[in-house]
Amino acid sequence: MKNLLDGIEKITFMGPGPSCVDDSVLKAMAKDTLGHLDPAFIKIMDGIKENLKTLLHTENRLTIPVSGTGSAGMESCFVNLVEKGDPVLVLINGVFGMRMQDVATRLGGDVDTLEFQWGTPVVVEDVKKKLADKKYKIVAVVHAETSTGVRNPVAEIGELLKGSQSIYLVDAVTSFGGIEITMDKWGIDVLYSGTQKCLSCPPGLAPISFSDKAVAAVKQRKTKVPNWYLDLTMIMNYWEGETRAYHHTAPINMLYGLYQALYLIVEEGPDNVYKRHMENHKLLVDGLKEIGISMLVDESCRLPMLNSVHIPEGADDAGVRKRLLNEYKIEIGAGLGPLAGKIWRIGLMGHTARPENVQKLLGALKAVL
Ligand code: PLP
Repeated sequence: MKNLLDGIEKITFMGPGPSCVDDSVLKAMAKDTLGHLDPAFIKIMDGIKENLKTLLHTENRLTIPVSGTGSAGMESCFVNLVEKGDPVLVLINGVFGMRMQDVATRLGGDVDTLEFQWGTPVVVEDVKKKLADKKYKIVAVVHAETSTGVRNPVAEIGELLKGSQSIYLVDAVTSFGGIEITMDKWGIDVLYSGTQKCLSCPPGLAPISFSDKAVAAVKQRKTKVPNWYLDLTMIMNYWEGETRAYHHTAPINMLYGLYQALYLIVEEGPDNVYKRHMENHKLLVDGLKEIGISMLVDESCRLPMLNSVHIPEGADDAGVRKRLLNEYKIEIGAGLGPLAGKIWRIGLMGHTARPENVQKLLGALKAVL
C-alpha cells in the first residue's frame, strides 16, 4: 500500500522544539493500538506515571500526562486551581510567562505580575518583597524560558514559599529531561511540561504533577472546574485506582511514544543525560565563539538546551534559517517579541544534544555565513 508520507525528509531539529526523536520512540508509536481500558495498556499507563515520578523526584500520586501539548498542561494547571478573584502572581521574563498571565487572567484570577528584562533571570529579592506585601494563592514561574534561553532560580523561589499557603506552580516544558528538577525538594506544588523538548518524543502530551496540597485545593473549589476536558477531578479516575473509569479516549499511540522516551532517559541515566546536554552546550558555545557568534544570556543563568545567540552583523536572519533548512536539513529558531530579528535560538534538546549535531550545525553556519 502506498504510504502518503514517504516523501517526508528527516530534519535535524536544533530549534526551540520539537527535538530529534529516537527511532525506537517512533517505532513504539507505530505498534498496534490497544484499547484505552485494556489491562495491558493500564500497565503502560502505570509505567509512565512511575517514570515521570522518578525523573521529577516527586512522590506526588497525581503525576500523569495530559492529552495535548505543553499549553494544555499550562491550561490544566491553572484551570483546576484558579477561581474568580483568586490572587495569582506570575513572574515574567519572556513569552511563556506572558502566556501564563493570559491564561490566569482569562479564568478571572486577580493577576499581579513582576516583570524582568528578557534575557535576564527573575530576581529572587524582588519576589521576596512582593510576597511580603501580599498573599497569593498561586505563584507561577517558567523554569526554562524558551523565548530567551534563561534558567530561572526555581529552587530559590521555592525556598521563599516554603511553609506558606501559596501554591507554587512551575512551567517545566523545556527544562524537564534536560536539567535536573527535584520537585519535592524545591517545594514545587504544581508542574507541567511537554513531550517535544528534552523528553524527545513528538508533540502531543503534557506531563503534569500536583502535590497533595494542590490536589486538596482543587477538591476545595467553591465552583466546578470550568473546563470539562481538563478537569482533573474526573481525569484522576482514569489514571488511578483498581478500576479505571473512562473520561476521554486516551491518545494510546502517543502514550506508547512517551513510555519509550522516558525509558530511554532512565536507561541512559538521568545524570548522564543532563551531563550530555551540558557538554554539548559547551561544545556549541566554544564553536560559535570561533566563528564570531556570541551568546545573549549570561553564563550564570544560561540554559544548556536553549542557546540564544546574537545574529551576526550583516547576516540575513530569515535567509540564513531558510538555507540551513533547505540545504542542510537543520531547523533553528527565530527570536520572539523584542528579540525578533536580533537572536537565533539554537536548541540542544534531548536526543538532539549530540556532538555530531553540534558539528553539523557549526559546519553549516560557517558555510552559510
Ligand atoms: N511553556 C514553554 C516554556 C514552552 O517553551 C512552550 C512551547 O514552546 C510552551 C509552554 C507551550 O507548549 P506547546 O507549544 O507544546 O503547547
